[in-house]
Amino acid sequence: MMTTSVSEELRERLRVTREEINQAAISVGRNPAEITLLPVSKTFPPEVISQALSLGEMRFGENKAQELRDKAQALTHPELQWVMIGYLQSNNARYVARYASEIQSLDRLSLAKTLQRRLELENRHLDALVQIKTSPEPSKYGVAPEDAADFVAQIAQLCPRLHIKGLMTMAVNSEDESAVRACFRHLKALQIELKALNIEGVSLERLSMGMSGDFKLAIEEGSTEVRLGTAIFGHRKQQRDYYWPEGR
Ligand SMILES: *Cc1c(COP(=O)(O)O)cnc(C)c1O
Repeated sequence: MMTTSVSEELRERLRVTREEINQAAISVGRNPAEITLLPVSKTFPPEVISQALSLGEMRFGENKAQELRDKAQALTHPELQWVMIGYLQSNNARYVARYASEIQSLDRLSLAKTLQRRLELENRHLDALVQIKTSPEPSKYGVAPEDAADFVAQIAQLCPRLHIKGLMTMAVNSEDESAVRACFRHLKALQIELKALNIEGVSLERLSMGMSGDFKLAIEEGSTEVRLGTAIFGHRKQQRDYYWPEGR
């Protein structure tokens, strides 16, 4: 019988990280079960993802459409789900339409329309989180908070194959805890504001916020999903390139 060799280090990182997530939730009186961990596997090869699969992880975040496609072709498991979390050029939308179960970086109407067309061709549907720009950094993608209500309403109307489930953001990259926290609070406040509008056909229950460096703060501020790369898989080569892919 074949045995999968599981990296003990990966097992330990997952265990410790889940414990940290639970602690952060409990520290503010939240139920840890409300918080999902999305392992971000970008730059790590299929073999590493296989190990995580054998440890029970079934969803993985990728930030480049072609890398997501290559991994989806390399790894087949009936429960495996790919989540697009990075800037998506419209000419690569077909890979996301074909292979992903979800996009968290939906940030413009032209992309949504392209995805809608591609999803019709593939006869598929995609869950989507709207990426919101909560930080003044020029390199952060996302819909401006003041445009979010119109954006969500338009997608609900024009793109029936995209199912909006919530919002996503990346906080400012700063040592200043209060600046990071402000980004998360901003997203939480926007969620409340948008929910009050009762836009038909959309759910806004999910808040994807928090990465390896700031997930505890994000959980304290209401995150329902943390996207963790380094904390789970270790350091990446070319760390910076992989936050700002595709021509940055
Ligand atoms: C890379 C990436 C992450 C994970 O970053 P870590 O700091 O390694 O946890 C989360 N979200 C997005 C959008 C990313 O590109």
